[in-house]
Amino acid sequence: MLRTIHQAGDVRNKAVILRCDFNVPLSDGQVSDDGRIRAALPTIEFLTNAGAKLVIISHLGRPDGSPAPEYSLKPVAERLSELLGKSVRFVSETIGPTASKAVGDLQGGDVALLENLRFDPREASKNPGERNVYASELALLGDIFVSDGFGVVHREQASVLELAKLLPSHAGLLIESELKVLENLTISPSRPYTVVLGGSKVSDKLGVIQHLLPKIDRLLIGGGMLFSFLAAKGMKIGKSLLEKEQFLNIQGFLSEADRLGVSLILPEDVVVASKFAPDADFEIVDADAIEESRFGATGIGLDIGPRGAELFSSMIKDSKTVFWNGPMGVFEFDNFAQGTRSVAQAMAEVDGISVVGGGDSAAAVRKLGFSENAFTHISTGGGASLEFLEGKLLPGLEVLND
Ligand code: ADP
Ligand code: MG
Repeated sequence: MLRTIHQAGDVRNKAVILRCDFNVPLSDGQVSDDGRIRAALPTIEFLTNAGAKLVIISHLGRPDGSPAPEYSLKPVAERLSELLGKSVRFVSETIGPTASKAVGDLQGGDVALLENLRFDPREASKNPGERNVYASELALLGDIFVSDGFGVVHREQASVLELAKLLPSHAGLLIESELKVLENLTISPSRPYTVVLGGSKVSDKLGVIQHLLPKIDRLLIGGGMLFSFLAAKGMKIGKSLLEKEQFLNIQGFLSEADRLGVSLILPEDVVVASKFAPDADFEIVDADAIEESRFGATGIGLDIGPRGAELFSSMIKDSKTVFWNGPMGVFEFDNFAQGTRSVAQAMAEVDGISVVGGGDSAAAVRKLGFSENAFTHISTGGGASLEFLEGKLLPGLEVLND
């Protein structure tokens, strides 16, 4: 059983370290989508109302294990202050004298946000010993640990796994509510059950396909990983995103899907661009004719095409359960957002359960103007949700289990 904050006892005047996932998109030094911050508010308010001294920790982006100003959490502290309606103290370090002093100054009900955990290479180190040393230093700052960064519970990282072993630790309200929805999807999903995959973390996401295939009826592939599929089928893909070392895996998925009777569907057409930029020229071509566009072998596939989007929409609307992770194209550029928009629209029309997961996918549907109520659930976790749905044990959750 998962230990939750309801079992944390009296937290009044205790220093509670809260791990959030504040990995939010920034533009011009401002938070451009605050969904993940808002998702953390119930836990933050629960703990501050109970009189805890709250020390929030998070990562942001993928800095190289050293301080990088563009990945500072300072803008997040500002947005969190606005949302909470109270001042959030931003602390420019995660460990050491500055951090201890700032935490020592907190009163019950106060909130501090420490700087980006990934400015320290030990946070995401592959070496558990190194992670443990960093976690031990973080643990000095608190009496209790609350884990609520659902988007990172599938990662073996110091602030997710090792820290939870060093202090009395509990899951926060966000993790609880995310799990409630995903557990429903794993128990007995109504069928047809469709999974839509896109985005850019190609190798991460390919890993889940093998385990998802036996559980679902249809798999629709768009986004960056589509081009590795096309290439694995022998098509030329110009300068589109490519992970050659995945070819054998992909060929395996295609035949496994066949054997299981799962429809694995690729769009028939794609949008090819002259360059990776918002003002790129573009052309719609058949998926097997990418290099026949006027950009030849230099064209880059940045979205699924309209016929593909139409097919995906009809398959989504005709499903009873749909899980979607990963934008269909580079939605940040208006000309390449149409595939993502069509899929979002179809998701909103599902007569059944529709779950959108992933930081960028959630940001995309909000940017495109969809209301959060348009879907059954918007999950803050992409990779974490997918791994949960495949039935994997997630290290950041296992460590919170009795
Ligand atoms: P999520 O955060 O929802 O899990 P990812 O982080 O995997 O999703 O991917 C999101 C990113 O994928 C977006 O920034 C989008 O621009 C990018 N993307 C989508 N399609 C393509 C493509 N064809 N080529 C390159 N990047 C793409
Ligand atoms: Mg992402």
